[in-house]
Parts: sequence; C-alpha cells; structure tokens
Amino acid sequence: LSRSVSTLRSAKSQLSSGIGRLSPHTFSCGSGSFLTTTCGLTLLDFTSGIGVTNTGHSHPRVVAAAQKQAGRLVHGQVNVGYHEPMLDLIDGLSEPAGPLACMASPSFLPGPHADGGRPHLFFWNSGAEAVEAAVKLARHATRKQGVLVFQGGYHGRTLGTMSMTTSKNIYRAGFGANLPGVLVAPFPYVHRYKEHLGGGTEEEREERTVDFCMAQLDLVLSQQAPASDIACAVIEPVQGEGGYVPAPASFIRRLREWCTKHEILMVADEVQSGFGRTGGWFAMDHYGVSPDVLVFAKGIASGFPLSGIAAPGSLMNTQPPGSMGGTYAGNAVSCAAAVATIAAMQDEGMLANAVARGEQLRGGLAELQKRLPIADVRGLGLMVGVEFEPAAGGIAGAVTQECLARGMLLLQTSVYDTVRFIPPLNVSEDEVKMGLEIFASSVDAVLA
Ligand code: PMP
Repeated sequence: LSRSVSTLRSAKSQLSSGIGRLSPHTFSCGSGSFLTTTCGLTLLDFTSGIGVTNTGHSHPRVVAAAQKQAGRLVHGQVNVGYHEPMLDLIDGLSEPAGPLACMASPSFLPGPHADGGRPHLFFWNSGAEAVEAAVKLARHATRKQGVLVFQGGYHGRTLGTMSMTTSKNIYRAGFGANLPGVLVAPFPYVHRYKEHLGGGTEEEREERTVDFCMAQLDLVLSQQAPASDIACAVIEPVQGEGGYVPAPASFIRRLREWCTKHEILMVADEVQSGFGRTGGWFAMDHYGVSPDVLVFAKGIASGFPLSGIAAPGSLMNTQPPGSMGGTYAGNAVSCAAAVATIAAMQDEGMLANAVARGEQLRGGLAELQKRLPIADVRGLGLMVGVEFEPAAGGIAGAVTQECLARGMLLLQTSVYDTVRFIPPLNVSEDEVKMGLEIFASSVDAVLA
C-alpha cells in the first residue's frame, strides 16, 4: 500500500499534540539494532523504543512464537479461563535462576519459599497499569493509604501514576488534583548532591548521599506521615526518566531494612530497568535484597504489550477474586512472545553481552569526557546516562537532533541536561563503536 506524502502528512497531523516525538520519521521495518524509514533511511536505534526491544527489533524467535500463537489463539480472556502461553510464561519466569530469582529471599512477609518456592504473578498491559496494581495490592493488604515515592521518579501517565511521578512537571501540569496520600523523599542522586553535600572521593560522596537520604526518610515519617499510614515505598532502583541514575547498593539495602522495620511494603518499579537491561535479569539482582512487589513491563515481550507484578503468595493472595484483571490483561500472543524473549535472552547470552557492551559504552564515554563538557557518565549494564556540564548551556536536545541527522536515534531524559543510551542487549561491539562515533561527532558539531 503506497500513500502519497500529503495523505501521510494529513494523518500525522490528526495525532494528538500531547505526544512528544524525537523524530518526524515513519518507520517501516526494524531488524536488530536498526530501524528503516519509509524514505529508505536506516538508523542505529539506541532507544530500543524506550527500553522495550531488548532482544533487538523483530527478533526471529520472538516473531515466530507470536505468529504461531496468533494462528492458534489471540485472546484467551483471563476472567473466562486460563491460556497456555501465560502458564508457560509463569513457569519460565519462576525457574530458580530465572528472571524472578530476585524475589527469592523473604522480607518481613513470608517469602515465596514459604508457600511452595514460587512467586505469585498478575499480568497487565502497560507499565503504569502494573504500578497501579502494585499500589492497590499494597493498600488493600496493609489497610494503609500512603504511597512513598522518590524525587525524580517516573511511574507513568495515568491519573494514579502521574501523581507518583516527579521527574518532570509536564506530566502533571494542568491535569488537576493528584492522588491523595503520595509522599516524596529524595533519591540518592550522588552526582547532583555533591553540590550540596560536598566533594571528596566517589565513595565518600556516595556514603554522604546515602546517609542524607536515609535521614530524609526518617523525616518523612515525622513530618509527612507516620509509618502506620504508609502502605508502600515505590522506587526505581535505577531511575529512568529521572536521568538514568542508579541508586547506590547501600541505599537499596538500607531502604529494604527501613521498610521492614516500619512494615512498609517495598515496591521495585523495574519497568525500564528490568529484563536484562542492567546486565542482571532485574536491577535488584545487583543489590542482593528482594522487594515485596516487583513491577515489570517493557522488555518482557520485546514490544508486545505486557506488564505485571510479582509478589509472595502471602501478599498476592490477599486480593479478593474479581478485584484485579482487565479485558486484555496478559494477552496470549504477548505471553508467547515473552516466553520466546526469555529463551532468546538465555540461549544467546544477552545478559552477559549487556554487561560487556555496557562497559565498552561507559568506557568510551569516559574517554570522551576528557575532552567534552560531560559532567557525569553513569549506569548499570546497558542503561547508560550522560549528563552534560551546566556550562555547556543545555545541549542535550541539540545533541539528540544532531545524532538523528547523522543516523542514530538517541533520547534525552531528566530535567538536567542528560541523554540516555538504551541499545538492544544483543548490540554488537561494532555497533557500540558506531554509536560512540556518531555521539562524539554530534557533540562536536553542536559545540562548534
Ligand atoms: N515505570 C517506569 C520506571 C517507566 O520507565 C515507565 C515508562 N517509561 C513506566 C513506569 C510506565 O510504563 P508505560 O508507559 O508502559 O505505562
């Protein structure tokens, strides 16, 4: 089907102005780390559709699994019965060293091991819906209302998750009253806090930042709401839209202890950091503690809409039948794609590749930092952020546009001057090299 340029332009103009967009291109196909446009341009995609196509565009195994499932059953509604791909997915997720291994060690709740060794699951469509499911679960189970979030966090654009999002005011401005009971504490953004908490070595800055943020958490309890009113603390272990900022391991461990002490459920929003993005199945794997609820989406099904939450059965099964679910929750084709995604990640060593390519990328960026106005290079695995120095005058947007002109899709993030690298987990060494070259020449061109 060919369309004239003018009908294409008219259709585009009918899309809501509320959608922000990096490029004007129309994509016709994708393969691995590349996207091709209807004009025949091929672009290196270091956005992965915002951390979704972790197995690369249209991975053959994922495509084959989805095609096969579509030919058998597309919609197996969860309030009507079970469908096979969801049961297969539950098995795949629950392997001892599989994706949900980070749910193994119990907190103050009886852990998965206490009720048969397997986490319990609920599937949804999008990240925001899954975050809301986690909050509803926490409120219902604890009979408490408060939801503690961290400054700079992003949890979605629905009314509920918009109220929990503090990465940028655009997500809330003009949209009216927020969900009541949301409390905000600082996130340990080590690079930013050095302005306030002083310099020293990286380790010293980190320790001071973590001590400060823990003290602020205690202040939340004495100034904003007592622990007896707080159902859950929702944290992205690596902030996404807030600037690709990993929390120091000591903070996540201390937050775990703090939540346990105050009987506040710890919810890890791993919508962006999950499914191999950080080189572990989940970022929580790097920290050695379990959240009470894990929220996942994006990378799980390589682009098919699927999200969900995992929790110990003792928590998940507090939900009365009928209180959770939705028409498309845990779609059969999406679940089949997720099973194939997990298998491809395992068989093709994508987690190990994410570690190796992440080191290559951060190493290359650290080299560039020596001659370019880069203030901070940070990240875990292939979730890599670059923050420019304030003296550069706000160049991140111009850099992403210059990268686009030179053949690479790269996204800005945060209210600070930051770009984020999100290549697929099976990106090659040469592709990372290409990305670094395009980035370096783009920054040079913007500064020229
Ligand atoms: N949580 C986090 C950490 C996210 O990065 C996102 C999406 N960027 C969401 C929640 C919301 O997911 P969705 O857009 O699928 O609703």
